[in-house]
Amino acid sequence: MAEGVIHLLSPQIANQIAAGEVVERPASVVKELIENSLDADASRIVVDIEQAGKRRIVVEDDGSGMGPADACLALQRHATSKITSLDDLRRIASHGFRGEALPSIASVSRFRLMTCLAGAKEGTEVRVDGGGEVESRPAPPRKGTRIEVLDLFLNTPARLHFMRTDRTEEAAVVEMFKALALAYPAVAFRLNCDGRTRLDLPAGSAHARITALMGEEFSANSMEQGIEHEGVHVSGHFGLPTFHHRDAGRMLFLVNGRVVRDRQLMAALRAGYQDVMFHDRYPVALVRIEMDAKDVDVNVHPAKREVRFSQPQTIRASVVACARAAISGTGAQVSTVPATQAMQSFARSLPQAASSNHSLPFRGSTGQGYPQAAGRPARVPLAAETPRPYAAEVPLDLGQPLAQIHRGYILAQTPDGIVIVDQHAAHERITYERLKAQLAAGDVKVQRLLTPVAWRPGEREMAWLHDHADALQAYGIELHLADDTARITGIPAMLRDESPIGIASELVAACMLTGAQAGERGRVLERWLGNRACKGSVKAGRLLKSEEQAALLRTMEHTPNIAQCNHGRPTYVRLSLADLDRLFGRRE
Ligand code: ADP
Ligand code: MG
Repeated sequence: MAEGVIHLLSPQIANQIAAGEVVERPASVVKELIENSLDADASRIVVDIEQAGKRRIVVEDDGSGMGPADACLALQRHATSKITSLDDLRRIASHGFRGEALPSIASVSRFRLMTCLAGAKEGTEVRVDGGGEVESRPAPPRKGTRIEVLDLFLNTPARLHFMRTDRTEEAAVVEMFKALALAYPAVAFRLNCDGRTRLDLPAGSAHARITALMGEEFSANSMEQGIEHEGVHVSGHFGLPTFHHRDAGRMLFLVNGRVVRDRQLMAALRAGYQDVMFHDRYPVALVRIEMDAKDVDVNVHPAKREVRFSQPQTIRASVVACARAAISGTGAQVSTVPATQAMQSFARSLPQAASSNHSLPFRGSTGQGYPQAAGRPARVPLAAETPRPYAAEVPLDLGQPLAQIHRGYILAQTPDGIVIVDQHAAHERITYERLKAQLAAGDVKVQRLLTPVAWRPGEREMAWLHDHADALQAYGIELHLADDTARITGIPAMLRDESPIGIASELVAACMLTGAQAGERGRVLERWLGNRACKGSVKAGRLLKSEEQAALLRTMEHTPNIAQCNHGRPTYVRLSLADLDRLFGRRE
């Protein structure tokens, strides 16, 4: 190689390269600027975007502001007021520390900054176009800082090209804005999109902020819980198991006030719900994790989206435990969504005259097919009247059975309304919880078969069985192996009405997928009975005598997690007398 070919990159190019990591899209600019405002102790932050932020982003705060020299320095790479040594990084409490955001943003846009220190007679205006010269001049005093970013990516056509449609980019901005606003309920936030106010959030309680951003339904269908474990404090709002969602995006995590997207945290939260939610559904939750700053490395990702924990197992255990505690506190509580939907479908079936004479509170709202958990901030009429899940723990009362309906549902009367029970779903949950308890105690009750049942599994199953036949015993399945036949001699007493071959082959399938070790038994059970229940649920219903109906209700009252079956479908719906009155227009 020839001599003299290496040269230093100009600051402009260096900043543009850094921008490649820090500034992916308008939403990342909004994130960095809001974080700076939060670091400057703002109590009010207003964000304005035009054309999804591609054309213009303004973030204005009432924070500490900067003096004229700092305002210029802030545009230099690696210029920061937040740390001075590596040691500081180990206990970082601010969002920023890299000193990269402002110069990066200014290198790929037309950048304007107006700022003023509190009490100063004069403010400062700084301009940079596409990472060129930093020009500054005095400006009228105003409290805090206002940053305007015009024509993002004007000089980086590749980036410009990678931006998605306005709709998608705006949605990303809104999502980022919401997450930060959820993290800081004591700060007032406003977001304007193309001149229209999209979100206006006064400073207030965490609960009010959650209601405003995650919806009243979530508020009414979530449980507050907090635990402390080995110096880690986990707290949050956990959606009821029956209030689940099809995508993972409604699991939000704040680690020491930072919004993070972390696979391990999501997995931990799902593990907390594992027993009570079907595999392809996700919980809705806002989880805060507070811990000593030295136990979390925030300098892992240029946009600070990811973190690394020094004790990941402790964090995982704490999240799982907190979610479980939240769920067990709501074991008997069913989401208000099904009741609301029941009311809505009743309402739709009312004769026209009735619904036009009275203004029914639920008119106009669209029923969503269960199991769609709606996190939209729609007004849900019943939610306000329904006792909050985190109200005092009252023993579950499912009342007295009145009738069995179509061999599938039980109608019962309670002191203040009615309850409709899904017999299959309830039975499924009871069986599961009992087997779980027996399995945990190492004492699954076995029903010996009078005549053993001959079963011929496939090659792979047979090979597996030869190695692991003992493993099945823990689940209450007893069999003897001959060459290519297994003779089933016992099955779990809880499942005595099922086909022995069916349950044995499903258990083997679950074990083969999950692993046969003792530590995996909970997961095997979930997979096994989850599958079994899918088929069971289409079975024709059984006629139940009135005593049997009552017995089912009483058993339900004492079964953990009874509000939902293994798939997270509700096992019962409750309508209060007030709901019924409202349905018939006797009450507003
Ligand atoms: P970092 O946040 O990593 O320090 P930035 O490039 O985001 O780096 O900001 C550089 C510096 O500019 C910050 O350390 C802070 O001192 C100052 N600054 C940026 N935004 C604001 C603001 N809104 N209010 C007051 N100071 C700010
Ligand atoms: Mg910053």
